[in-house]
Amino acid sequence: MAAKLDISFAKSARLAGATAILLQTAEAGPAGLSDADPAGVYDRAATVRKFKAKAISTLDIVAPHGSEADRIVVLGLGKGDVLKAHDWLRAGGTAASVLKGSEKAIVYTDAPGANVSANAVADFALGMLLRTYKFDTYKSAKKNDEDEAPSKEKTLKVTIVTADVAAAKKAFQVAEAVAEGVILARNLVNEPANILGPEEFAAKARELEKLGVEIEILGEKEMKKLGMGALLGVSQGSVRPPRLVIMQWKGGKPKDKPLAFIGKGVVFDTGGISIKPAAGMEDMKGDMGGAAAVTGLMHTLAARKAKANVIGIIGLVENMPDGNAQRPGDIVTSMSGQTIEVINTDAEGRLVLCDALWYCNDRFKPEFMINLATLTGAIMVALGSHHAGLFSNDDRLSDALLKAGMTSNERLWRMPLGDEYDKMIDSKFADMKNTGGRYAGSITAAQFLKRFVGSTPWAHLDIAGTAMGSPSDEINQSWGSGFGVRLLDEFVRANYEA
Ligand code: MN
Ligand code: ZN
Repeated sequence: MAAKLDISFAKSARLAGATAILLQTAEAGPAGLSDADPAGVYDRAATVRKFKAKAISTLDIVAPHGSEADRIVVLGLGKGDVLKAHDWLRAGGTAASVLKGSEKAIVYTDAPGANVSANAVADFALGMLLRTYKFDTYKSAKKNDEDEAPSKEKTLKVTIVTADVAAAKKAFQVAEAVAEGVILARNLVNEPANILGPEEFAAKARELEKLGVEIEILGEKEMKKLGMGALLGVSQGSVRPPRLVIMQWKGGKPKDKPLAFIGKGVVFDTGGISIKPAAGMEDMKGDMGGAAAVTGLMHTLAARKAKANVIGIIGLVENMPDGNAQRPGDIVTSMSGQTIEVINTDAEGRLVLCDALWYCNDRFKPEFMINLATLTGAIMVALGSHHAGLFSNDDRLSDALLKAGMTSNERLWRMPLGDEYDKMIDSKFADMKNTGGRYAGSITAAQFLKRFVGSTPWAHLDIAGTAMGSPSDEINQSWGSGFGVRLLDEFVRANYEA
């Protein structure tokens, strides 16, 4: 659900009936103090509360004497000279959290002692938008509980007071495109599988046509013709037919090779015949987090008119046990011609991705391929939910991704690949098998994918620990986090739009 937040920018604003939020660095006093606090209540309040403007700390003054504002909240930024993009996002998120239930707020962002660029102001606003997000589609209004009653929720009007209004507005257009992409990805992950099957997901992707993205949707017949036996093997146990969606954004020069992003979109993963245990299986509605991130990214890039040619491909299937489901021991032929022995039908994501990767490489000859997938539980064992696993055959691509991870704070950790691991997926009966056994499970999954990318620079992001159920923070309180959208938007912007 779109954030019920209306943000505008101005040089000054009327404080009557509003909450005033004043940003402050550790080195100097709060922004906007003379406007919001003519009677000088701040000094005493700060002394009483021992407020030192540490990062994301707040000083809350209700009904301040002599002020037109109903409430003054001073929001600490910490040291002003080291503030990075993510610090501004966190500050914005914190501001949104203290404004819960409010209807009007005036935010003074130009904190003395900080270098407050237009981008910093936009990042602050982005943090507010991301924090305000709530997935409440299926909650009916309850009486006497404002929090749980979406229909009663009023729009929060926020005016951001800053010196360079025009520059802030311009930077905010980009931030809004990012917020929309992240929120789209979160919505897709949060939707239950009975509502969001492969066809419904494809229809959501089709909506990007409004932004100028070209969309093609392949059905079962077309995929059969292309020989996508690996992907189709996964979907054959479901009554819902698979879809492969190809999204193209042509914002670059015609001669520029496209950048390609590929997503795993298993709308629900029961494990198939190798069925999963019941506990926690409901989380497998989020096994399309990779496809959600790619779709959200395409939205953001198109909405902000990125100057790059970008392909997004998502493989949408449902993995179900059924009389027609594939069995352990089955051998399928992928589009590449390579044969795969299916040892475990729960290792299905790689079967979907291998055909999508091969198709992408074969048709588009991209600059690189980056795939995102909630691929293995093993990556959560290794990294928890604070880093996604990065596997790559290309050091330059890998370094650029790691850097974008640091900037966006959607962090990656590079994991190894190697011949010894590759051998672990050799099969007695086919060219390879779809699992390498218990150990190094996220690495052997990556080795599997690597067999389908040729010499194209490629990176695989295993986002099983970061796309869903990750701990909430200042800018995300949602189960589906939208991980990957900000990371890859930053990556494209920093490396391909100069
Ligand atoms: Mn699985
Ligand atoms: Zn899966």
